Amino acid sequence: MIEGFILRTLDYQDHNKLLYIYTNQGIKSVLARGVKKLNSPFRHLTQSGHLISFEASKGNLPTLKNATLLNRYQALKQDIIKITMMHVVCELIYYNLTDDDDHEKLFNFLKKVLNALNDTPCPEDILMIFELKFFHFLGYGINLKHCQTCQTKHDLWFDVNSASLVCQQHAIKTHTLIGPKHHQILTWCYYIDIETYQPLQLEVKTTQVLFDVIEALQTMHMGTKPKSKAILRTLLTGGTS
Ligand SMILES: [Zn+2]
Repeated sequence: MIEGFILRTLDYQDHNKLLYIYTNQGIKSVLARGVKKLNSPFRHLTQSGHLISFEASKGNLPTLKNATLLNRYQALKQDIIKITMMHVVCELIYYNLTDDDDHEKLFNFLKKVLNALNDTPCPEDILMIFELKFFHFLGYGINLKHCQTCQTKHDLWFDVNSASLVCQQHAIKTHTLIGPKHHQILTWCYYIDIETYQPLQLEVKTTQVLFDVIEALQTMHMGTKPKSKAILRTLLTGGTS
């Protein structure tokens, strides 16, 4: 049996489901036969957002043979904002990983993120920590230390258009620039240990600005930003922005 987190499921023929499970060896596609039948022992287990322990047959399309539930993240599932954040995390993993990534490390980190998301009163922090550190896992070095052009470390702004740090001298005035008060929070998220951090309790306005920066970085490095992020923003602002 190996541990895995179900990123998404697809209905497949009458009673079957296709499971996309993230494990310490990468994403596995597993066919779960008959799990939509009322009497299937795996019916409630084979749902996205569950951490399971499972065994599958060998072959091109492995079939689920055995599985037990390890964590359904109960508190998380009762909060629509946390659920949407979990979708963002799943989307990022599903669409951006390659076989060469360090899955052992990312899978362990993902479990910590899910536990933290489940328990925290400030889920925004957890999502930003995941998103920032995810760049690092993918091998994208995010410069949060010096001006992109002259390397100075003083008086820095984040240029959303070019997704880079700039000093006063190299800032392009027509671009959207984010001040140090904000991008220092991102630096904090990038380096913090998710297990020992203290909640930031950010205002929604601040969170939205930080999301702008993270989405600029995602669009630049991954070509796109997670679609669930738009839903999340609407939920956080109650539809007012
Ligand atoms: Zn400069």
